[in-house]
Amino acid sequence: MSPYIFGVILPLLATLLLRNGPKRRRGLPVDVGGEPGLAIRNRRFESPVRSAWEGVTTLAELFEAACKAHAARILLGTRAVVAREVEAGHDGRSFEKLHLGEYRWLPYDAVFEVVSAFASGLFFIGHLREERVAIFADTRQEWFMALQVLPLLSNPIFYIDDKTQEQSSCTEVTTVICGRKELRTLVNISGQLDSVKRVICMDDDIPSDASVIAFDWIITSFSEVERLGRENPVDADLPLSADVAVIMYTSGSTGLPKGVMMTHANVLATLSAVMTIVPDIGTKDVYLAYLPMAHILELAAENLMAAVGVPIGYGSPLTLTDTSNKIKKGTKGDATALRPTLMAAVPAILDRVRDGVFKKVNATGGLSKKLFHFAYARRLQAVNGSWFGAWGLEKALWNFLVFRKVRAILGGQIRFILSGGAPLSGDTQKFINICFGAPIGQGYGLTETCAGATFSDVDDTSVGRVGPPLPCSYIKFTLWFPEKRYFSYEHLIFLPQLIDWPEGGYLTNDSPMPRGEIVIGGPNVTLGYFKNEEKTKELYKVDERGMRWFYTGDVGRIHPDGCLEIIDRKKDIVKLQHGEYVSLGKVEAALIVSPFVDNILVHADPFHSYCVALVVGSQSALEEWASEKGISDFNFSELCEKEETVKEVHASLVKEGKLARLEKFEIPAKIKLLSDPWTPDSGLVTAALKLKREAIKKTFNEELSKLYAS
Ligand code: AMP
Repeated sequence: MSPYIFGVILPLLATLLLRNGPKRRRGLPVDVGGEPGLAIRNRRFESPVRSAWEGVTTLAELFEAACKAHAARILLGTRAVVAREVEAGHDGRSFEKLHLGEYRWLPYDAVFEVVSAFASGLFFIGHLREERVAIFADTRQEWFMALQVLPLLSNPIFYIDDKTQEQSSCTEVTTVICGRKELRTLVNISGQLDSVKRVICMDDDIPSDASVIAFDWIITSFSEVERLGRENPVDADLPLSADVAVIMYTSGSTGLPKGVMMTHANVLATLSAVMTIVPDIGTKDVYLAYLPMAHILELAAENLMAAVGVPIGYGSPLTLTDTSNKIKKGTKGDATALRPTLMAAVPAILDRVRDGVFKKVNATGGLSKKLFHFAYARRLQAVNGSWFGAWGLEKALWNFLVFRKVRAILGGQIRFILSGGAPLSGDTQKFINICFGAPIGQGYGLTETCAGATFSDVDDTSVGRVGPPLPCSYIKFTLWFPEKRYFSYEHLIFLPQLIDWPEGGYLTNDSPMPRGEIVIGGPNVTLGYFKNEEKTKELYKVDERGMRWFYTGDVGRIHPDGCLEIIDRKKDIVKLQHGEYVSLGKVEAALIVSPFVDNILVHADPFHSYCVALVVGSQSALEEWASEKGISDFNFSELCEKEETVKEVHASLVKEGKLARLEKFEIPAKIKLLSDPWTPDSGLVTAALKLKREAIKKTFNEELSKLYAS
């Protein structure tokens, strides 16, 4: 009887309840000041949360309190390099492979000592309180420690994210803290870094030629500054809540990066809000840190983990799993060595995990492949709300037989994944739910709002939405029209529908949903742009009640339960010659699912009636296709030049476009197929793997002109 109850009756009841039961309201309407618009708040908090920790108003206080509370517990862990090897690839290029050891941990009290000593050491080597520091390094434990040091000096810091920002971010900076690799880059542009006086290298093995080239810089190591500080302690000058803690550069996906000034209060508000969302976060958890710290998502996540006693183990995207590019065959990737319970991810990384698993399963073939696809289909039915899917005992069986092995890829213990920074595809979200058995909390936010705005509830299994407002934020919609009042474009709103909102019409009537530009208000909304008064005035507003609002330029719609869905970006909408609007982001999201596509940029131009695309081909998929077709004697870049390859990729884009119900004018009429991947190193995508439209357009200007001319 009981298998019957668990396997059939309960799932059926659950399905019926999910479908027909009263929809839970996750966000509620709220009365706010400022420009008229529709506003919602988190259902649990009437006014925005500022600090979840009593008496704590700055990051410095938060870190000190955590170090006292968890003194002997482990906090930061790093893997030592056991061996480095260089392997030759079949295309003649060579690759570095690493054998990494187990994690070595530093407890809270030791980290606190390093931080205090490093702060004193900075003064000792001549850094003045009013001067600025920049951090320029990959994610690692010294990055975290440097971050904790700087508020103690009461001066804001800059983060240097990637190539395009090096020079702009370093103006006014006197001290740069960087890794060995980045030191070389700095030395190369030393002539342009007039204000820099000292460089502190996080690695002890400072390149011997560095000090010769940059003869007027003091170049020293992190450990040396720490040693000097231990011998010459200085009292900390603690910051105030309203002081700028960090100047962080936006990712530059829509143009030149801007420095965003974040106060301690801003960051604290986001941390406090996210803490209420992640279920039971605490000392039983382990966090895997590998996203760029120069992005607010990772910075906020690591600070939150440290605040609540969660150990942070450092890794990197290239060493994440046992099969990652830089991991020596037969040795452990970061996730298997650490066995984390919590991770943050950007959608591009989760897409790669999904594609990697499917590729491996398909390559295995035979019974395992059939079993995987069968189990996946059963679970997918259940996730999609059908009681025919695998619930209860059957779910446990598939988890044990099939998905346990997939879970092992990320260490087997993951219980929650935080995704943010870009739209997450519904397919990937379901894949992670099924194969890793972990809910994904999808967050929406911007650097300008300290990553905070909305966050999906753990029990919300819907896809494509980013949840209700975080407890620190209000979300307001203002009307936005590209030009006219009437659109061919389905998702922009008509004025009369919006006017109905304040009376709460959306609670009972979910069609059509209110839509417009998203405006975010709350204590997490930052001070503005560093030395860019004009842009600050344009995008930030303070209302008559003192609330700060940021005008995001993102377009969204509100679901009847108070959850937000991001449907567009103002800057990504282009009007074609005949008046139709193309939403570049929407089209790219629909076309990137083609198996032949590794990355894609859609380009539209008001002087043409069609759009075109730059497509980075997926090497494995195209080579497989070529060998099936009997096309041989080529390298990948030659394959991408072949007319029949371009035709095949274009046909697959048309197919995906039709499946996604794109209009004819939205599907690129012509494409250029490229063979080199777009990476943060090439400067064509951000550190969080988002397209840098301007940089890509500039790099491939000639190719784009040819597409329009042909
Ligand atoms: P950044 O400040 O560089 O993190 O970029 C912020 C932008 O990323 C936002 O304005 C959105 O356009 C986009 N974004 C962030 N999170 C999400 C999300 N969950 N879904 C869709 N777009 C997002």
